[in-house]
Amino acid sequence: MPNERNPLPHDERTSRMRTRLIHGVSHTGRWDYDHHVVPPMTASATFRLDSAERGARGFEAFARGEGLDPHDEHIYIYDRLDEPTCGMLQDNLAAAEGGQMALCFASGMAAISAAIGVLTRSGDHVVAHRVLYGCTYSLIENWLPRYGVAHTLADLTREEELRRAVRDETRVIYFETPVNPDMTMIDVAAVRRIADAANAGRDPADRVWVVVDNTFATPYCQRPLTLGADVVCQSLTKGIGGFGTDIGGAVIGPKELHQPLQLYRKDFGGSLSPKAAWPTLVYGLPTLGTRMSNYQKTALRVARFLEAHPKVERVLYPGLDSFPQRDLARRQMIDVHQKFAPGSMIYFVVRDPEGEGRSAARLINWIAEHAYAITLAVSLGQIKTLIEAPFTMTHSAMPAAEKLARGLAPGGIRLSVGLEDWTDILTDLDEALRAV
Ligand SMILES: *Cc1c(COP(=O)(O)O)cnc(C)c1O
Repeated sequence: MPNERNPLPHDERTSRMRTRLIHGVSHTGRWDYDHHVVPPMTASATFRLDSAERGARGFEAFARGEGLDPHDEHIYIYDRLDEPTCGMLQDNLAAAEGGQMALCFASGMAAISAAIGVLTRSGDHVVAHRVLYGCTYSLIENWLPRYGVAHTLADLTREEELRRAVRDETRVIYFETPVNPDMTMIDVAAVRRIADAANAGRDPADRVWVVVDNTFATPYCQRPLTLGADVVCQSLTKGIGGFGTDIGGAVIGPKELHQPLQLYRKDFGGSLSPKAAWPTLVYGLPTLGTRMSNYQKTALRVARFLEAHPKVERVLYPGLDSFPQRDLARRQMIDVHQKFAPGSMIYFVVRDPEGEGRSAARLINWIAEHAYAITLAVSLGQIKTLIEAPFTMTHSAMPAAEKLARGLAPGGIRLSVGLEDWTDILTDLDEALRAV
């Protein structure tokens, strides 16, 4: 039901980001629930089709890749193809990232594998940054070669190295920024320029796509599509989901990818369950603005505390003046209102006189046993502060020698700042560092 009173939140002149995240695409043709303030959760794996003709129309529309406009008629068939709760979440994610379309998947990894899956075929080549979330590294290193897709891992902070890595067969340049876990910034606009230079004179079907994993920053702190990326991947499990109740992922990008991604999702089967989409739609995305602005305030305090601590060797938080890529961070991590938004993630290395990360292990174990406000667990972006050791946990898929060569220290610690009172987080860290 098109509605003039309720413009799509794509129109950034009409309201502030925090308000848009709460109200999203407030009127939708995806499901008629006029008297609910909150969309009800759908729990129907299959849909009544009324007639053979309507069923046939539904299948034809799906094959043509229709279903993008929330105000169009939607003939739902089966959850794995398309369904209303996911559809509403997709409309709001596209708006939040400033993309033409979003498609949700069963996890962040299902989204990342689908994005790379639709953009490559046997004989193609992917260039990725040399440090990646462990499972993304494993996907590129262990699984893509089975499909005949080769790769080069390069240091994408060095433009010359990236330029050299791109070949005629390259179809995707893939990276996270900030990089999980070491907070390295990759300049999206610089990568865009290199992709444009490679694409000049190429058949559009053979072009290089710039794909950015925006999980660490979330669309509240950074919108890679506005910086020059073609496609964004998100793990909804993290900052967007926010409460740690569900796993999910999304790909956001241009309209032309809607149909291939939907067909891929239908056949590979990584659809997001409406029962996981619902909390993300109702709790996660609407509270992202408020959560993130609070996470950030605490993160800066925590980062400054760590930086001043004699047992801490270095702290990487984009909001610190000492951050090595300070200027790039301030250019790239800005919210839609042009305010610097350094996010909720901190990476720090504790002094390790005995080597092999023993001090970090003692710190983490002290926290696991005694801390109240900080929890030893992987994942991030939640209302609870989480701590982990990437070297042996989230990034265990990468061989130790490679991690060392790429600057990941055994003593490195990843901290995801939550909504607790900052003084309680500092108390736990202070006592834990005493015990190291
Ligand atoms: C967690 C994470 C993923 C994977 O997401 P899942 O929802 O766990 O599949 C991908 N990229 C980054 C940067 C992550 O932190």
